[in-house]
Amino acid sequence: MSTPPLADGSSVEFLPFTRPDIDEQTIAGVAEVLRSGWITTGPWNTRFEQALSEYFGGRAVRAFNSGTVTMEIALRMMGVGPGDEVITTPLSWVATANVILAVGARPVFVDIDPATRNLDVARIESAITPRTRVLLPVHLAGLPCDLEGLYAIAARHRLQVLEDAAQAIGSTSGGRRVGSFGGFASFSFHPNKNVTSIEGGCLVLPPDADPALAERYRLQGVSRSGPDGMDVDLVGGKANLTDVAARVGWGQLQRLAEFNDRRRELARAYFGCLDRLELAQRGVQLPLREQPGGNWHMFQVVLPERVQRAAVMVALRQRGIGSGVHYPPIHLFSLYRKLGFAAGDFPHAERVGAGILTLPLFPAMRESDVERVAQALSAVLREFGV
Ligand SMILES: *Cc1c(COP(=O)(O)O)cnc(C)c1O
Repeated sequence: MSTPPLADGSSVEFLPFTRPDIDEQTIAGVAEVLRSGWITTGPWNTRFEQALSEYFGGRAVRAFNSGTVTMEIALRMMGVGPGDEVITTPLSWVATANVILAVGARPVFVDIDPATRNLDVARIESAITPRTRVLLPVHLAGLPCDLEGLYAIAARHRLQVLEDAAQAIGSTSGGRRVGSFGGFASFSFHPNKNVTSIEGGCLVLPPDADPALAERYRLQGVSRSGPDGMDVDLVGGKANLTDVAARVGWGQLQRLAEFNDRRRELARAYFGCLDRLELAQRGVQLPLREQPGGNWHMFQVVLPERVQRAAVMVALRQRGIGSGVHYPPIHLFSLYRKLGFAAGDFPHAERVGAGILTLPLFPAMRESDVERVAQALSAVLREFGV
């Protein structure tokens, strides 16, 4: 893809903020699946689930067609419904809160720590009520939130935990892989994530959860026995992963370590360039430099308050650079305002949400791309007086 000629008549390759990297072996593998006569959920789904289970330390894992339905099903498995409250962050993809509404429960937001941009665990306890059932933290940009603190609170108040780890595959906390310990963990394989299955997701189950229940929620509540036995005992959905998608996801999983290593290198390169251009001194908030256990799912800066983010995004695009917004604060969407949330409720999330900008970061990027993005951002900000 290339952009229209720039003002000086030259043209450069357009650099999106993210791009999946599907290798030829995987593409050939997909062709084999397509020729095999079995294209929906089957042997590759099982193989993908087994590989994921191994990856997550032997825990039971089930694959689904999104990293949203995984969370909805986890909440249903925990028995969450009308009258219940779920504590989460206002700074996430809206799916995180939508699934709480989908099961009839109420989201209770807790403001973020502006340094990590994750739910501020120190604020959780004051949000707990007798109706609180679940803590639903998000590991934004793959930086794990304070899980040690969070699980201590969960234990003290007898709350269940669902980690929205959509962005955190390969991240670690206290030396342990996110998803390999604790409560439920949900991962997404959307093309923007560090591993993709085109669309898809998986749910890692804690040892006391029943994988067969997850399977029934996944497919119409159906359970089978013998050659012709079938029963339906709950309202399930249609959330199974196709074998074509599972083949893509399995191929991606083989490269996860390589992908995440490359992301870390590129993040380091970003700091080198942005430091040289003195972006932090000029009022741009860089991501936390040390992200122990993070997988650098995204590299996000927060622009100074006086700069119009939309104008910066347009100016970057004119220079052939894509950028993204992850995310506007959930509580300010009209659906959530109707539930009573309002501007001023979560000032840190609102400030970060208003200025946050995702810069290009994906494994196939070169160091020269990082340099180009940093130079462009610096030049654009100068045009805006920063
Ligand atoms: C991507 C994402 C989801 C949803 O995943 P899908 O696979 O797109 O349904 C949920 N939460 C967060 C934080 C995400 O980034």
